[in-house]
Amino acid sequence: MEVAIASGKGGTGKTTVALRRPSIEGSTPVEVMVPKIDPDRCVGCGACARFCRFHALACVKDGVLLFPELCHGCGGCSLVCPESAIAEVPRTVGVVERGRSGSLGFIQGRLMIGEASATPVVRAIKRGLPNDGIVVLDAPPGTSCPVLETLTGVDHLILITEPTPFGLNDLALAVEAARALELPTSVIVNRSDVGDGRVVEYCAREGLDIWLEIPNDRAVAEAYARGVLPAEAVDGYRDGVARVAERLLRARSESVAG
Ligand code: SF4
Ligand code: SF4
Repeated sequence: MEVAIASGKGGTGKTTVALRRPSIEGSTPVEVMVPKIDPDRCVGCGACARFCRFHALACVKDGVLLFPELCHGCGGCSLVCPESAIAEVPRTVGVVERGRSGSLGFIQGRLMIGEASATPVVRAIKRGLPNDGIVVLDAPPGTSCPVLETLTGVDHLILITEPTPFGLNDLALAVEAARALELPTSVIVNRSDVGDGRVVEYCAREGLDIWLEIPNDRAVAEAYARGVLPAEAVDGYRDGVARVAERLLRARSESVAG
């Protein structure tokens, strides 16, 4: 069962809900294939640059320029080159790290500084996920490509939000993305006592179940800052998290039965 924890914006508490501090035991580079032009074969026809919809290639007087951080590794330019002047070479864009957090396995991706797209790293993480047990995916913030890549194919999505105008706006965007992907979706409202009632009204209107409301408790922030699960350190928090886990398992068995 794959469960994604996501939100329309950063800083709402996704990671606080999703995980605790792990120890890293190993890492693997994430590579994408990028073109390498053979200047002896290239005749400067420009077919490769015209083909590349990501503008990663520019045909200039002295040859073809590659902007590797814009390349998505589709391989199309090498196919359209009439002179077979384009080879593909690996380029490291990030790293996947594996470790443990207590009895739980842990995988995280890191993007190299300056890289524009996290999607290859997310794909590498998802390829390495176990096929059994419960997998919790802590999605990047927002609704961009790496987020959609993370959410695609999960069994359930939990959106974390906060009861503020920004929280509501970004929740609505995330719900739109979830509906486009046809994901069963529930909501957790973090810092539930700091804003107004519009997030709750929105969820009622849209038929979204709020599975947990987490009050703005300094002890939760302190536990998280120490790398301790709030469920282990803060009275009352564990029951709420346990209720979320029960509802998840129930939702999963209902969807399998249905
Ligand atoms: S591999 Fe694809 S994305 Fe990269 S430069 Fe070639 S056409 Fe553009
Ligand atoms: S398509 Fe091939 S020959 Fe034409 S500019 Fe690109 S690399 Fe050179």
